[in-house]
Order: sequence, then structure tokens, then C-alpha cells
Amino acid sequence: MPDLQLIAAQDALTQPFAKQSLEISSKKEWNVRVSPSVTRSRNPIRETLASITANKPSSSKTPINLGLGDPTFYPLHPPPSAAIDAVNQAVSGGKSNGYLNGVGSTEARQAVVNYHKRWDGVQYDISDIVLTHGVGQGLDLLFSVMIPPASVEKSNILLPRPGFAQYTALLANLNAEIRYYDCLEEKDWEVDVEMLDKLCDDDTRAILINNPSNPCGSNYSREALKDILAVAEKHKIPIIADEIYGHMTWSAPFTPLASLSNSVPIITLSGLSKRFLVPGWRFGWLCLHDPLDVASSIRAGIQCWGNRFMGPNSLIQAALPTILATEPGWYDEVINKIELLAKIVYKGISDAPGLSTTFPQGAMYCFVKVEESAFPGLKDDVAFATALYNEQAVFVLPGICFQKPGYVRLVLGTPPDVMLDVMERIQEFCDKHTGL
Ligand SMILES: *Cc1c(COP(=O)(O)O)cnc(C)c1O
Repeated sequence: MPDLQLIAAQDALTQPFAKQSLEISSKKEWNVRVSPSVTRSRNPIRETLASITANKPSSSKTPINLGLGDPTFYPLHPPPSAAIDAVNQAVSGGKSNGYLNGVGSTEARQAVVNYHKRWDGVQYDISDIVLTHGVGQGLDLLFSVMIPPASVEKSNILLPRPGFAQYTALLANLNAEIRYYDCLEEKDWEVDVEMLDKLCDDDTRAILINNPSNPCGSNYSREALKDILAVAEKHKIPIIADEIYGHMTWSAPFTPLASLSNSVPIITLSGLSKRFLVPGWRFGWLCLHDPLDVASSIRAGIQCWGNRFMGPNSLIQAALPTILATEPGWYDEVINKIELLAKIVYKGISDAPGLSTTFPQGAMYCFVKVEESAFPGLKDDVAFATALYNEQAVFVLPGICFQKPGYVRLVLGTPPDVMLDVMERIQEFCDKHTGL
């Protein structure tokens, strides 16, 4: 029997409707508009970069880029060769071309479980893991799951200051309320827990902790991490732990937050961009640590939303067990290089008039204080970075990109001789501008 309803619907669509729409089409404007969230979600790093580098440096020195947190720029160190082989094999083997489970293949997620057991001493279940296109997409997924837009439900999230600009950009898209807690330079950039405590209320959905920190280069002590957990426990708020720089420390071992929590739910984010030096591979993951089983709604949420994009690319998933089994000696080679750069920068900055810094202990950054009164001709950190680029061809990011004016961030990712050259240039720059 013909489907009469369908025929009726087709008739209605083709006849009067088509005629009518043809008649009015000449008068009507194109309805091309974008969501207001597009203009809200800006990345200040890219914008500031464009403004500082708008004009060519007047200096004829070779330009040096200490601005972008990309370890492949110089490059710092080659990725593990076994990792490269494993990706090659995944490509040529021809068995890794299909769609996989949306939250990631079983083998790749098992590799993440093994990795965190080995390095963090935390035992996850495979159902605790969701693979993502880098930590950036992991954060986007997690924010969408945990933080409702302010227009739908009252909520807020606590972010570090200084902190990574992408958090703000992703949350602006959701139009959620952001509250910043301070990290204290005089305490090696540890969290101001009193302030954290005061900012929490019944609408707080998450506290975000970034350790080791971009841009501070900090590595929190166990005691400092326990103080943070105590605040979360008191207010019964889950923690998002961005540990993309996990184990990238030299002065002291890194302590994963989840390894200290026997009550507070922790969602840890990590990935390949920094520790494995391959940010272009766009690969990361989320791990839910929920000792009291109070966060099953988050587990269901990330699994459900993880399925929206059918997981990150199948070739890297196939290679992941090999990549994550990289032997400790390779990481040591990388850390030794960053530590040497940290020492060069610490000495150079300490000797430069008008500048000061804490000794970087982790990640790949040095966050430098610019004493405003020492540089009468430079009104702020943006002016400092702009003049440094113009006169010495050294590009650094101003603190304003990290919600912390009055500072600049240096990336520890160059060969040592390039960094020694940078320190000479910065010395010359500071001598001139402080009138010495
Ligand atoms: C670089 C960085 C990331 C990594 O993001 P990907 O999307 O995995 O490349 C995440 N968090 C912080 C703080 C970073 O500096």
C-alpha cells in the first residue's frame, strides 16, 4: 500500500510552497548570521602576538621566538623514535583506517590505564578513560558536561590566575561565570587556598588546578596539593586537574593530584602535546578518579559526549600503547635540557636590572616580573614585550595573556646557546631602559 501520508507531505512541499518561496526570494535579505558566542570566545594569545609582531623589528639581530609554547618550534628534542615507528606501522599496516569506539579503542584506553598506573600510582578502570583531540578538546568536552551556561542555570567555575588563556576562551563560549583564585609568587606560585575557600559557593561546579603550571613553571608540594583537596572536600566540589605537564619537573618529583585524593572526585587531563613533544598530533585524554563513587553523572556525561566526535584519530590510537611505554631515559633527556634552560634563564633574569623571577621547577616556562617603576618609558607588560621585540628581536608573551599584567612569559624550548644569546639581549635591553 502506498504511504498516503508521505505522498500528502510531498505534495504540500512541492506545490504551493515552492511557488511562494520563489516569489519572495528576490525581496528577502540572506539570513546569514553567527552566534554571539563567536565574538565572546577570543584567544588573547593569538591577538597579542599579532599586535606585538605587527611591525618588523628595527633590530637586525636574528629573531628569537620565546612566545609560543610549542616544543617543536626549535625543536627542543626529537620525539621518541619508537613512537614514530609505531605511527608509521599504523599507517602502512592498513588496519587502522576505520571508525573506532567514540570514547577511544579498548587497547588505547588500556594503554592510558597502564601509563597512569606506572607513572602516577593511580589505578583507573577502562571506563574511567575518554580519549580526546588533545587536552583542549578534553576541556571543551568536560566544561560542556559540568558547567551549564549562566542563562540556563546559575553556576561558576574557579580558575587559576595567572593561568592558561584557553580556559577562559572555552568558557566564554559557554557564557559561564568565571572566578579567579590567585597563585602566589612568594610561595613559588602555589594556590592561595584561603582565597580559593572564599570563592567557593553552592553554585561552584568545579575547581580547575593546573600543575605543573603554564605560565608559572611551578610544581606544587604534596602539602600544597593536600590543602587544595581540603577546600574541595569541605565544599564537596570536584576538581579538574590539567596535568599536561605531569612529570615534567626537575627540582622535586611531580605529585599527581588524584594520587592524594581518597574522597574528592578528580578529572585529570593529560596528553601527548608536551611530555611527548608532539602537539600537532592532537591527542589527549580524560581520567575520572572517583573514590567514593559520587561522580557517576560525570562518568556518564563524558562517555555520552565523548561519542559526539567518534574519538581522536585512529592512527595515533593504534600507536598509543607503544608511545606510552616510552622508557624513562628518554624523558630524562628532555627534562635535563629544560632544566639547563631554566638555570640559564634564572641566572640571566636575576642579573638583569628591573626583572626578577622564581626558579622554574616544572613545565617549560619562566614567568618573569617586570618592575614597573624600573622602566619609566614602558607603561606596561605589553609595551615591554613590544619594545623587546622591536629592539632585540626577542618575542615573549606579556602577562596580560595570562590574566596577570606586569609579567612576561619565556618558553624554555630553545637550544642553550640561543637562550644565552637571549639573556645577553635582555641584559642590554634592561640596561638601556632602566637608565643604567
Ligand atoms: C599546551 C597546554 C595544553 C595542551 O593542549 P593540547 O590541546 O593537548 O595541545 C593544555 N593545558 C595547558 C595548561 C597547556 O599549556
